[in-house]
Amino acid sequence: MKVAIVTGASRGIGRACAIKLGSHGYTVVINYARSEAKAQEVLDIIKQNGGDGMLYKADVSKYEEVKEMVKVVFDTYKQIDVLVNNAGIVRDEPLIGLHEENLDECFNLNVKGYFYCAKECALKMARKRSGVIINMSSVSGTFSLPGQTVYSATKGAVNQFTKTLAKEMGSRGIRCNAVAPGFIETEMIDTLSDEKKEEYLKNIPLRRFGNSEDVSNIVLALASDEFSYVTGQVITLDGGLSL
Ligand code: NAP
Repeated sequence: MKVAIVTGASRGIGRACAIKLGSHGYTVVINYARSEAKAQEVLDIIKQNGGDGMLYKADVSKYEEVKEMVKVVFDTYKQIDVLVNNAGIVRDEPLIGLHEENLDECFNLNVKGYFYCAKECALKMARKRSGVIINMSSVSGTFSLPGQTVYSATKGAVNQFTKTLAKEMGSRGIRCNAVAPGFIETEMIDTLSDEKKEEYLKNIPLRRFGNSEDVSNIVLALASDEFSYVTGQVITLDGGLSL
């Protein structure tokens, strides 16, 4: 049995990752902040597929809540094998109209939240000298779009955090990689106007947005022992957008 924590697993990409891992034998901890009914739906699907897991409500931008979550998970299962740091938000706005609360909210969740979860899980993984951390980055970490100074800075931080952590934890048997999706059809991109979507599609060589299933396939692969020699990588998954 292997245990995976997926943060922000009630919706979108996290939901797909939780369901994918759950249907491949992982016991999945479905973390969410608000959407309890949606998180329950994810657990129900995992159980219908013959898997198992638990729900855990925690705001992962708050260190105390992360510590308690990891403690409860470890007390329950006595192991944590995989962490998918996925919970993230976007608050696009031009820099000259920047709201300080958006800056704080993005960095607190997209960056500090990843550090909190990685630290607490790595402490448990190091005891077993085995574990996998997968950080959900974004193509915006390397590819610039106007209005995304804050979001792209958080994802750039995630990319470098991933590489440095991989180097730091490799000798303790912990691998760390990031997945950098382009446009993925979730509620996160629902805010884009049809006009904007059309414009972006023209720049995607594969002429489609990705879906959460595309991302979950990479996450499953990175978690598996078949990729046990891969660490410190940022895997881009964007239909060619950033080429
Ligand atoms: P989404 O559909 O908006 O879902 C966000 C998830 O994060 C929800 O499950 C939400 O839970 C959870 N969440 C939000 N704040 C949280 C908090 N403080 N603590 C714990 N959980 C929290 O987002 P998504 O599109 O799936 O994006 C997931 C990740 O992929 C993010 O890191 C994002 O930056 C990255 N990404 C997305 C795209 C894209 O095009 N969609 C592209 C590149 C990268 P509740 O429902 O309970 O609030």
